[in-house]
Amino acid sequence: MIAAVYILACVTSSFAAVTVIDLTHDLSEDSVFWPGAPPFNFTILNREQRDGFWYEFNYVGTSEHGSTHADAPAHFAKGQWRVHEIPASNLVGPAVMIDVSQKAKSDPDYRLSVDDIQKWEATHGRIPDRAVVLAYFGIDKLYPNPFLVFGTRTPSDPTTFHFPSIHPEAATFLTGQRSVIAVGVDGPSTDYGQSTTFDTHVILGKHNVLGLEGVNNIAKLPPRGATVVIGLIKTKDGSGGPARILGIIDDRAGSGVCEGLIHTDL
Ligand SMILES: [Zn+2]
Repeated sequence: MIAAVYILACVTSSFAAVTVIDLTHDLSEDSVFWPGAPPFNFTILNREQRDGFWYEFNYVGTSEHGSTHADAPAHFAKGQWRVHEIPASNLVGPAVMIDVSQKAKSDPDYRLSVDDIQKWEATHGRIPDRAVVLAYFGIDKLYPNPFLVFGTRTPSDPTTFHFPSIHPEAATFLTGQRSVIAVGVDGPSTDYGQSTTFDTHVILGKHNVLGLEGVNNIAKLPPRGATVVIGLIKTKDGSGGPARILGIIDDRAGSGVCEGLIHTDL
């Protein structure tokens, strides 16, 4: 009984000392979608004062892959998890934030390399198990302008795209040499703009690793120590979908009080 009370108090005080970073862009008709997607549809169905109460509701129709969203493994790997098959435990994990925005600034086709990951590990330690690895390229500031996000004058033509992302060798390293549950980017794809074979998508999918695209505010996370929650809409048989992604920073980490609790018990 005493132990149970202690744990409850610990959880309560710990949550009073967390900072929550919203890693999500708005979802609207202005959002960036991959070309070919049917237009986003937000239709007001009712907004009126009724007898004693206000009442409003809307229709929302959206493609899966636009704005801040998750790719289910099935998106590029036949037979792997579709959205409703992703275990809830694969939607929460320790954050790894790798900032390569300086390299992306001088090279719009830059791809996160194995060397970038190993340099991060040399400074911050080995990537924790079941991590959500988020690469930051400085693209989130460009949303929702499709010309700037896709790096082209013709956002309807993917062959002209120039934006950075994850090198397939880095995806192979993360899925083979490390244990990760998701890999995310602030740009519109986990493959770079000039990709035609989407190798990183394929590698992540084959390992039942989620891809996160259009992630906002990645640079507000510390390199390690935060927890990411992927609030992916649970569409049956979906290949992906809009996600409210949150970064939780435990301000008490290192204090010795409840340290690690969020990472293990949330
Ligand atoms: Zn996608």
